[in-house]
Amino acid sequence: MKLLNYIQGKFEEPFSSEWMDNFSPSTGETIGSIPLSGHEDVSSAVAAAKSALPEWSSLEPSDRADWLDKIADCLEGKFEEIACLESLDTGKPISLARSVDAKRSVANFRFFSEMIRERQDEVFETDDSTNIVKLRAVGVGALITPWNLPLYLLSWKVAPAIGMGNTVVCKPSELTPLTADLLMRVIDEVGLPPGVVNLVHGNGYAGSSLTGNPDIDLVSFTGGTSTGAKVAQSASPQFKKLSLELGGKNASIVFSDCDLEETVKGVTRAAFLNQGQVCLCGSRILIESSIYDQFMEMFVESVESMSIGDPMDENTDLGALISKPHLNKVEGYVSLAIEEGGQIVTGGKPCLPKELEGGNWMSPTIVAGLDVDSRCSTEEVFGPFVTVHRFDSEEEAIEIANNTRYGLAGSIWTGDLERGRRVAERIHTGMIWVNTWLHRDLRVPFGGVKDSGVGREGGKWSLGFFSEPLNVCLKHD
Ligand code: NAD
Repeated sequence: MKLLNYIQGKFEEPFSSEWMDNFSPSTGETIGSIPLSGHEDVSSAVAAAKSALPEWSSLEPSDRADWLDKIADCLEGKFEEIACLESLDTGKPISLARSVDAKRSVANFRFFSEMIRERQDEVFETDDSTNIVKLRAVGVGALITPWNLPLYLLSWKVAPAIGMGNTVVCKPSELTPLTADLLMRVIDEVGLPPGVVNLVHGNGYAGSSLTGNPDIDLVSFTGGTSTGAKVAQSASPQFKKLSLELGGKNASIVFSDCDLEETVKGVTRAAFLNQGQVCLCGSRILIESSIYDQFMEMFVESVESMSIGDPMDENTDLGALISKPHLNKVEGYVSLAIEEGGQIVTGGKPCLPKELEGGNWMSPTIVAGLDVDSRCSTEEVFGPFVTVHRFDSEEEAIEIANNTRYGLAGSIWTGDLERGRRVAERIHTGMIWVNTWLHRDLRVPFGGVKDSGVGREGGKWSLGFFSEPLNVCLKHD
């Protein structure tokens, strides 16, 4: 499979004629190649987006909403193809690729189409004036995405960005290019005006070339915290509008009055969904001392009962990690956990059939006995690796939960909703779930604080980020 860039409505080879291999996480085999795009490819994509901007941004919002619906319809027709490509490219179980990735990608276009169609300008009256707040396009957007939820996150940016009248250049992760290519094929098939959505494949070089391009007006970036810092450095001198959705080290706080069975299910899912490669994953599990032993017994049993193996098998719960370097990084944290004085409660190498031996495999790993200040308990690992800690009071649970430079999300498990709310309000993150996890309502703000990022996307926050308000003040008698 040789993928191409998509610029000005055409599939193009890279100017340099250089290519990168794309590997299957579950077998290690090469599954295709993508352009190793450089400066010229990026400049050409940005120029295409810039030339399409005047006409696209002057369309009525309802016309742009119609385009989002056309894209959603066409994507929906390729639902199974999305799921299969995503599973092949990321190593995630096909059931997850269907229920999360394919489903949300279609839903993102439908959700923003409806919001944009229904949106009204805000109006503020005074005794002698009327203020009308119009939302206008910002300009040309750079949309940069990671590998863990490829089309889910790309569609989360493309839909509101073009819906609000911007034109865009996408730069998907070099590790998972397949569904970004599918989206470009969909956009081509529905006949979206050329230049409105462009895409360059490639690594961080293409990404930094894009964020530094003077004709880029806004950058929406989802990825690692250290990359986010480079993106901010490159975008800030030109005052580009910037949204950064970065890493997390989220706590799952388990109180003794929780419904144990439901909590074990929920905490297991929060810890290991997508092999623990979701920014929201609860990778620090804080357990009230009085139920620690009972919880651990049930939790370990639940984790060890998950089936790990062929992502295309309908019964697989856990697939492969994204790449060899990433597997090495996560395994490095297992060694570090031992050095830091932790005990590996469960984990190791899974037993797999021969055809999967070249893949990036690791069993879900639980580490106990680590200090809450240890590196393993405070740094983002982003894999099937969790640490467990005891606490004796609400105050102590809050203190441990806040003991990291990240501030993305978390979950609280308790039979007392009042306590859930009280504790939630003292956790320094952008999002907290009580007695659930990753329970999404697309209308609510999504994003984090501290090293987890800047700004919010989701619902009206996305519409706000992908637009500039203009206040028109009309004086009357
Ligand atoms: P990454 O930062 O390595 O890469 C993300 C994207 O940035 C890729 O497309 C990459 O090619 C590009 N890139 C690399 N260097 C760049 C540069 N200098 N300038 C511009 N672009 C550059 O992240 P990753 O490994 O793909 O993804 C994992 C990370 O993403 C984790 O830290 C995870 O927590 C985070 N993440 C956050 C959210 C969120 O919503 N907060 C969601 C998913 C993933």
